Amino acid sequence: MSVFADLVGQERVVAQLQAAADDAARLVRGGVGGPGGMTHAWLFTGPPGSGRSVAARAFAAALQCESPGQPGCGHCEPCGQAMAGAHPDVAVIVPEGLHLKIKEAREIILRSSRAPTRGRWQVTLIEDADRMEERTSNTLLKAIEEPPPHGVLLLCAPSVEDLLPTIRSRCRLVPLRTPPPSAVAEVLVRRDGVDPAMAAFAAQAAQGHVGRAKRLATDEEARRERRDVLSLPRSLQGVGSALAAAADLVATAKEESVQLTRDRDARETESLSKALGVGATGKGITAGKPRGSAGALKDLETLQKDRVKRTQRDALDRALVDLAAFYRDVLQLQLGTRCDLVHADLSLEASQIARATTPEATLRRIDAVLACRVALDGNVAPLLAVEAMALALRTG
Ligand SMILES: [Zn+2]
Repeated sequence: MSVFADLVGQERVVAQLQAAADDAARLVRGGVGGPGGMTHAWLFTGPPGSGRSVAARAFAAALQCESPGQPGCGHCEPCGQAMAGAHPDVAVIVPEGLHLKIKEAREIILRSSRAPTRGRWQVTLIEDADRMEERTSNTLLKAIEEPPPHGVLLLCAPSVEDLLPTIRSRCRLVPLRTPPPSAVAEVLVRRDGVDPAMAAFAAQAAQGHVGRAKRLATDEEARRERRDVLSLPRSLQGVGSALAAAADLVATAKEESVQLTRDRDARETESLSKALGVGATGKGITAGKPRGSAGALKDLETLQKDRVKRTQRDALDRALVDLAAFYRDVLQLQLGTRCDLVHADLSLEASQIARATTPEATLRRIDAVLACRVALDGNVAPLLAVEAMALALRTG
């Protein structure tokens, strides 16, 4: 099966990338570029879960594919290696903390200037390229302005506005769209063996986020958390209950992020300690700690704290996306539009709120949820932002 098979509902993007990969294969054979428009810098944009990094990985594989005539065949060795994250000429960079560090950017540039070991392209894929400070962006810009002959840079970000104009103007754009629920449900059934009714529910509730749909379809805990978040609108009757609900929501997100990162943190600390020889005894070692190890462990601790913060923000953001959709459902019921509700399983709850309030009040509530997302994105303390939202959502 082609490396592009898992791209859900993105026919135009697949055609664009296949044409470019054809072009790239011609260039590798010593020919000239054609209408496919192969170039050195690419920017994949799309809402979270639309598959921008899936698309970038598939493209990386297609560039390394050695099958004649069908780049991205999916069965040759380079295709398999690239898709499994094991190709020597494909590096995937995921910013670990809240931001991509300037040191990481320098390594990326160094790497992309090396000759590819298998003679094709030296591909560097940066997920969340929007998480870059300006000076890091400027460092990266140099690599884009003067690309090494075999270097290919694939950047992923939610939208073009998330990157500096100087960077985005030098990239070829690959805009992914939010895939329709029917396409997401189809892939859950085909790829993951999910029951069709569950797939339809999860695809609708996940609003086009493929990974989220899979989690909802296959993880009872994820479904429980979603229901908890969506029970919020009915529990906000006064100032006291609004503040309590806000504290709950933030605490749940924090707990989830600690759980998600705990095992990995422990593994990393253990292997770094081992590498540094912490706990060993011998010449030159005092109190079981070799000199210099404290700094390295401290760095790791900082990185891990950043990661917990970031995972917590992601969990909160997902909860807010669900909440905003709930109020959009309420608005639809109030206005009598005939569209499918996102949270169809909660139509009773949505109708109750629709009857008890006005469309104007619902619009104000949707604004409050979106304002909270913006505040979190701007690094406002989570509890403060969520409290402000909960107060704006309350009905009494
Ligand atoms: Zn292949």
